[in-house]
Order: sequence, then C-alpha cells, then structure tokens
Amino acid sequence: MRGAVLYGPKDLRFEERETPAITKPTDAIVRLAATCVCGSDLWPYRGIQPIAEPTPMGHEYCGIVEEVGSAVRTVKQGQFVIGSFFASDNTCPHCNFGYQSSCQQREFVGGAQAPLLCVPLADGTLVPTPEVPSKEMIPSLLATSDVLGTGWFAATAANVKPGTIVAVVGDGAVGLLGVLSAKQMGAERIITMSRHDKRQKLALEFGATDIVPERGDEGVARIKDLTKGVGADAVLECVGTQESMMQAIRSTRPGGYVSYVGVPHGVGLKGEELFFSHVHLHGGPAPARRFLPKLIKLVLDGKVNPGKVFDLTLPLDQVAEGYRAMDERRAIKAILQP
Ligand SMILES: [Zn+2]
Repeated sequence: MRGAVLYGPKDLRFEERETPAITKPTDAIVRLAATCVCGSDLWPYRGIQPIAEPTPMGHEYCGIVEEVGSAVRTVKQGQFVIGSFFASDNTCPHCNFGYQSSCQQREFVGGAQAPLLCVPLADGTLVPTPEVPSKEMIPSLLATSDVLGTGWFAATAANVKPGTIVAVVGDGAVGLLGVLSAKQMGAERIITMSRHDKRQKLALEFGATDIVPERGDEGVARIKDLTKGVGADAVLECVGTQESMMQAIRSTRPGGYVSYVGVPHGVGLKGEELFFSHVHLHGGPAPARRFLPKLIKLVLDGKVNPGKVFDLTLPLDQVAEGYRAMDERRAIKAILQP
C-alpha cells in the first residue's frame, strides 16, 4: 500500500507503507472512500511543529469496513463508517460527559492519507450510516469526521443559541464550517473575519451576515463598531495564533464566550487581561465523536452541505499537491480519492 509520509518541512512523500492489519481485538480495518488534508497538517508541513521521524499523515476518514477484530461487536464488515481523529471507547466517564477526545483510552488515529486505515476501539470510534451512501454524499460525510465536527464544537463551546451575535476568527475550512454550525444553531448575526474573496463568498453562502477583512486591533474595532460598542456574544477562534486568540478575546463582550479550536502555536495569555476581560474560554481538540450521529443525519437529510469546503479534488497519489495548494492558500481544503 502507498500512503502519505511527512519527512520534514515541505517534504511530503507518497510512498510504500506497511498495509495496516488488525493488531488488537478491538481494531477495525477501513477501506477509505475518501480522505483529505487538514489545516492542522500544515503546522508540521510548514515546520512550525517539528516532527521527530518520518510520519504517516492524515486523520480524516470514511469508508467501508473491511475487517474487524474478534472483540468488535457493533461495527460490521461491509458497513460504511465515519470516525474521528481520536479513537475513543465511548463508555468511560469523559466519553459519557461528551469529551471523547479526552477518552481515558484515547488513541490518535493517524495515517489516513492512504487506501486503508486501522481504527482502534472500533465500536466506540466508528459510526455507521444506515446504508452505503451515494458517491455525491461522500465529501459532506467525510467533512463530519473532523472539519465540520470541529466547527460544530467551536459553536457549541461558544454557547451559540438562537439570537446570538457570533464572530468567527479564521476563514479556513473550520472557520467556514463554524459559520455553518452557528447558522444551524440559530445565531442572529454571524460576522466572519476574512480577507479572501472566495472564502468570503462561501461564508456568506453558509450563513454569514457580515464580513470583516481587518485583523488584530483594527479587526476588534470593527467588531465593536458592528455591535454598538458592546462586542460579540460568542467568538469562535479557528486559527491558533497569538494574534487570532487576542482578536477573539478582545472582540467578545463581558460575559460572552470564546471557543478555541485552532491548535495553539505560541499562544500565551496574560492573567490580568484575561481577568478583566470577563469572558468564558472553552476549547481544545473537538470531541467530534459526540456530534457524529447528529451531523451524519443533517448531511443525509440534505440540511447541510459541508463538503463545499473541498474546492480541490485530487487522486490520492497527488497528495503532495494538496498540501502545496493549501499551504499557498490556493485551495481551502483538498479531498483525496484513493
Ligand atoms: Zn472514553
């Protein structure tokens, strides 16, 4: 089997890798219908997050179960399944509270930019669809695996409710699906911070009501202007830099909520500013597993079309071009077909 392996900054190779096999009785092997490149894959690709050794890449997946271990009970061979980037038992206390990405048995699921993937804790991790979906449904179902689940968590963690005034920092695929999620949750106003024409258009299509191209202090001032000097009720931070985090906190009204789902790189918060900001902070790796059943249903019922974030479709063997296109911001998100 050939799959994507990152060797170092900008050095992504599509090369021979060991074919995954069942190693624990709770594993399942999934033949992928599609996979994709994540914004978080760009951190190690750009060398901002160093890697110790050549690393198989990819953690977003859906496809047909090819084989299950002897202890797997609910997941069956031949089912179409979607799972999250953290395997979880879905039974421990953290899972029961809805934080499957902090599961006591969690394991990162890596190496999904390949034709086959071994998924640990299959019964807890994988969610089957009622039937094998049509080809047209695959991009939107794949999106539930991580990028929509993360946008949904961002909106949930920021306490978005009917009538909420929302601001979204970041116009990557997660930010755009944060807009879609906030719209689904009944937000009254959704301000997207974006300076890219194509992304602004998609944000508007997903439900954004205002576009703010300014960043940093200027961006904060624009949010204040748009909210009569008050600030937004809910701000979704979908980038992970110091600037984006401060932009989020300073755009939020006292008593409001900031969620942060961009993997932080070099973010430090000053206690005193945080103290006087009076905001709620909640974020982290999205417990995408919590939302999978609901999001799969929304997609299959045709209520949402998150697959629109994939604006570049490539055969899997051209995965390196997918990274380049996203790195250079030529593409929002690349979907890969094994
Ligand atoms: Zn658990």
